[in-house]
Amino acid sequence: MIWTEEAEELLGAAPAFVRGQIREKTEAQARGAQRTEIDAAFVKSLQSGGRHPGDNFPPPRVTEDPIHGAFDRKYGVHAGMSGGSAVTENPADLFFQCLENTADTNAPAMAYLHVPFCCTRCLFCGFYAETTEPTAIASYTDAVVRDIELTGSVLRHTGRKLSAVYFGGGTPTDLQADELDKLIRTIRRELPLTDDCEITVEGRLYDFTDEKVSAALDAGANRFSFGVQSFDTKIRRMMGRILGREELIERLNRMVELGDPYNAAVVIDLIYALPGQREAEWVDSIDCGVNETGIHGLDLYQINLLPATPLMKKLHALPPMADLKQQADLFLAGRARMMEHGFDRLSIAHWGRDPRERNRYNLWNKRDVDCVPLGAGAGGRWSGCRFFQQSDVHRFSGSVAEKLKPVISASRNPACASVIAEATGQIEQRIIDIPVLEACAGRSLGKLLFPMLGEWKRAGLLEGEDPFRLTAAGEFWSVNLQKLMGLKLMKLAG
Ligand code: SF4
Repeated sequence: MIWTEEAEELLGAAPAFVRGQIREKTEAQARGAQRTEIDAAFVKSLQSGGRHPGDNFPPPRVTEDPIHGAFDRKYGVHAGMSGGSAVTENPADLFFQCLENTADTNAPAMAYLHVPFCCTRCLFCGFYAETTEPTAIASYTDAVVRDIELTGSVLRHTGRKLSAVYFGGGTPTDLQADELDKLIRTIRRELPLTDDCEITVEGRLYDFTDEKVSAALDAGANRFSFGVQSFDTKIRRMMGRILGREELIERLNRMVELGDPYNAAVVIDLIYALPGQREAEWVDSIDCGVNETGIHGLDLYQINLLPATPLMKKLHALPPMADLKQQADLFLAGRARMMEHGFDRLSIAHWGRDPRERNRYNLWNKRDVDCVPLGAGAGGRWSGCRFFQQSDVHRFSGSVAEKLKPVISASRNPACASVIAEATGQIEQRIIDIPVLEACAGRSLGKLLFPMLGEWKRAGLLEGEDPFRLTAAGEFWSVNLQKLMGLKLMKLAG
């Protein structure tokens, strides 16, 4: 299948972790339409159409065993809204207009800064883009400084303040100490931040030296989020991770010690349903994180099998992965274990044991809170529009050198976007609160939603009514509920 240069550019504007999926779906659509070439018009027609004709999202069925039988498949791993319309304006001009047209200066807002480098390649990773190369990272850091300055020159005059900044990737911890220092200090100098702004550095414990940690803390970082995935050394090595169990425990405890004087939170991700992973290992990884380290938060995720990852290509040569029913059992086992450990539930996947873990960026991200994109390949949104930045590092650097904000595509959210985002955020926090949704939509929603919510109750996915609460089965199938709710609310937009 041939992709024209403009079509490739549009694809490059999507976040790195979904690009492979979009490429596959677009090519399948093109084959269905008997095309041999994909041009920009074809990509845009799919973007504005939102759903693909082949997509089918049946409602839950009523069974005795909802966690194993309510649906045949998950409708995605993360919830996300589709269906925005492409814009005709220059996307970078539109971005600055949106910043300037901020209606509510008290509304929460945040920033996402993308670091598209990593020195390793984990089998399951869909975020990775460029191999870490010191000169390239140094010049990328300078380019991002220019991007922050460009953005700050407008944002500072809007009266809006950012309450969360997230350094994601890739692996921001692959930056050198002076680069971390430079980026965090530039953010704090150029962007209007609240006094309690959460500043997260995401990454990997390997090669995140004391010098780097101290540089990040001194510059203003107050939260570290590490992808540990598993404490089982054998499984970790199979996935391409470098550190073993003992080194991980030691580094995590050192992180907690270094961060303590700064009241910094240290949180980790663990993944279930990795190849060869069974319940005993899964629960042991949770226990290890909770009992043997001083971490403040723990996130439990199901593995996301992305089409373009090495994991998909190597599946045949790896030990079997849990099927959907076994994944449900792993989910239940993890949930029960975290309750036994007495952690607070911050959302379906996030758990905290210390008030310093606020998880602000992740919670707000689900609610589509306005977010400034910074760095190559970053996505963001502001005042009802979505924006994607140039993902090619060289073009990104060229653009900011000419003082041009490297936003290369934008779309307008449909009218119902805010109520869909509110519903998605509520489900993420295990409730459905109709009066709050109605206040957000500015109209009554009972007729539209009650029949569907009644079905979900009968299927064992919800309980109560004021508000509705997700059952354990509802939590496991939450992404399906978010999808179905989004499609239902799309009817509001006609
Ligand atoms: S360390 Fe993170 S960014 Fe790098 S390959 Fe592994 S999962 Fe991807």
